[in-house]
Amino acid sequence: MDHADVLIVGAGAAGGIAARRLAEAGLAVVALEQGDWHGPDSYRGSEWDWELTAARQWSTRPDLRRAKADYPIDFSASDMHVLNFNGVGGSTILFNGVWNRLLASNFDMRSRFGIADDWPIRYEDLASWYDATDRSVGVSGLGGHPAYPAHADPPLPPLPIEGKAIDIARAMASRGWHWWPETNAIISAAYDGRHPCVQRGTCSNGCNEGAKSSIDLTHWRPFAAMGGRLVTGARARRITVDGQGLANGAEWIDRAGAVHHQSADVVLMAANGIGTPRLLLASACDRFPNGLANSSGLVGKRLMMHPSAFVHGLFPEQLRSWQGRNGSTIQCLEFAPHVAGRGYDGGAKWSLHPAGGGPLAEAMRLFATGVAPSQFHARFDAQFGHRLKWVILAEDLPDEANRVELHPELTDADGIPAARIVYRTSASVRRALDHSVAQASEILRDAGAYAIEATNPAPVGAHLMGTARMGDDPAGSVVDRWCMAHDIPNLGVIDGSVFVTAGTVNPTSTICALALRAADHLVRNRGSLRPPARSYHRIPEGLPCRNVAPDAQPERVGALTADQHARLATIADALIPAVDELPAGGAMIDGTALQRLFAARPDMLPELRRILAGPERDPVSLVDHLAEAAPLDRELLLTAIAGVYFLDPRVRARIGYDGQAAIPQSPDRFPAYLAEGLLDHVFADGWHERWEAGASSVDAPA
Ligand SMILES: Cc1cc2nc3c(=O)[nH]c(=O)nc-3n(C[C@H](O)[C@H](O)[C@H](O)COP(=O)(O)OP(=O)(O)OC[C@H]3O[C@@H](n4cnc5c(N)ncnc54)[C@H](O)[C@@H]3O)c2cc1C
Ligand code: SF4
Repeated sequence: MDHADVLIVGAGAAGGIAARRLAEAGLAVVALEQGDWHGPDSYRGSEWDWELTAARQWSTRPDLRRAKADYPIDFSASDMHVLNFNGVGGSTILFNGVWNRLLASNFDMRSRFGIADDWPIRYEDLASWYDATDRSVGVSGLGGHPAYPAHADPPLPPLPIEGKAIDIARAMASRGWHWWPETNAIISAAYDGRHPCVQRGTCSNGCNEGAKSSIDLTHWRPFAAMGGRLVTGARARRITVDGQGLANGAEWIDRAGAVHHQSADVVLMAANGIGTPRLLLASACDRFPNGLANSSGLVGKRLMMHPSAFVHGLFPEQLRSWQGRNGSTIQCLEFAPHVAGRGYDGGAKWSLHPAGGGPLAEAMRLFATGVAPSQFHARFDAQFGHRLKWVILAEDLPDEANRVELHPELTDADGIPAARIVYRTSASVRRALDHSVAQASEILRDAGAYAIEATNPAPVGAHLMGTARMGDDPAGSVVDRWCMAHDIPNLGVIDGSVFVTAGTVNPTSTICALALRAADHLVRNRGSLRPPARSYHRIPEGLPCRNVAPDAQPERVGALTADQHARLATIADALIPAVDELPAGGAMIDGTALQRLFAARPDMLPELRRILAGPERDPVSLVDHLAEAAPLDRELLLTAIAGVYFLDPRVRARIGYDGQAAIPQSPDRFPAYLAEGLLDHVFADGWHERWEAGASSVDAPA
């Protein structure tokens, strides 16, 4: 196969949805993906080293992962760093699977409230594509949600809500506040040949069970099985245009650095809200000197990332909250609609999660608070497994100052300019977060939390939206209502870049519905698309639709010198002292433990050698010094010490942790919370109007 009907750049969520649909319609589709195939067998969630690898190889942060597939993103001018994953399935490999539709009121903010902008489409225009993607992705949830216009029930029953989460639901119901069992792209029963969720809790480092509906499983595999051509290790560096100004393909670079050209009648960008504007800007040429599809000047502008806050409740009971879907249990949309006079523009959405992470994550949280070594064990015992977490997402309104641009100097390994993010959180968003953090803390206290820990704002952004907005006016938007560029009619953008407003909810359900709608439009209108003049090179034969070669392995296991080993042990002794029958941290750092550590994290050996070769300081002042001078070094040092400690079977037995267990559960076909009446207030007549007016909300901020 050489020339393609459609070329898709980026094999993430949006690309997968479109690729499968187009291939099913008989089009010849080629997709380019800079990363690799992964799969349930490659994730570490069921293995002893899962937390160590979650901090590096399977980190949600590309700047920590530093894999060959990742490209540099400079966020020094941003309040948030970016979370993503680059590989087949894209960021859905690591996403939590929360699967929400935008509210109807998110589509016409300007007309309704006089703020932000209107989309050129309305919720109703997208409704049938939401239903279709729910089915093809595999979504679990409770039907009949009154926050939305009537729509098809999710294809699978809801996942169960148990234990403390029900107390949270009771606390919400007693205030008359909205709550709803979260809809997740996690299957509650066998579906499409996949096994249901077993609550292993490692969703954001890859799901070993294949229960999380990542798009590699749900769409890219079927696409490949249909004979669709997905080339991995293929980094697009430039979209090419012909003499008439039509897109005619893309130049891409293979793992060996060789440059190829893939020609196509239609090019669809699906490289996400950062990768897509990066490539459109990097494709500037004589005819389009400001980048492709950029006559409006809006490519890269209006970046929205959903600034967030985390609110942890600490409960006296042992909740074993290292397990459980992560994914979310319940959601709260009480403050999601914009309400005039509430003190901020837009709204906020909450999702309840288990704490996330095992003992290493808890130890790192403790170290981050500067815990005194004498308090380490007592506080660990009181906190590990005792947490529930609200994740609060605030709606950031579009602002042209928040943007993605090309870095003036930095490039990736293939010489393509890096992305630079400029993002400032508005005062209005900060007020929204403060308001929700205060309310969410109250709910946790109502449910029995004895302490609250809030990270507000959280310095991470995983939702990438707005950088190639859709609209009917070519002067004020990049793509039209069908996601095709105003300037170049056979160039589409089908990822979250096209969002006009961000809403408050997790975006991937909407990204996928939009991508499917755009693909259907292409299928219906392919005859009227004017193909580009075909002056292209052929794609080289013999490039298989599978990973071509594994990335180079980092340095293999070696050893610390005796001095470095002794120094590490001294630091570990100081940070984690002996308690009861357990020795101190340093005693755990023997040759075998270090070998295991370096087997899981080969990158740590040279880094530890470097850190431990630094000037002599007493252990505590070394850690304090690193906090200021080299925070990533501090993190690595503490991860090594706590990682070794909590790998020890004696420690694991004492804290009651035996790894992330598989705990089968049944779909909740007859939820007890319905019988208890915990949702009666949401089903009551007139609830929708009162909710949209903010009538039941209290305590608006000053
Ligand atoms: C940790 C985490 C948790 C999340 N949780 C949720 C959640 O619970 N709910 C939710 O709705 N969303 C969540 N998200 C966001 C969600 O994953 C994204 O919204 C979604 O994956 C975006 O889809 P996309 O197709 O636009 O981009 P992506 O899925 O990011 O895919 C883009 C693909 O393009 C490829 N690419 C980029 N540039 C090039 C190039 N030049 N050449 C070739 N290939 C290229 C990338 O390698 C990547 O594979 C989460 C994200 C993360 C990282
Ligand atoms: S909790 Fe469920 S979806 Fe998440 S990783 Fe475990 S099995 Fe997969």
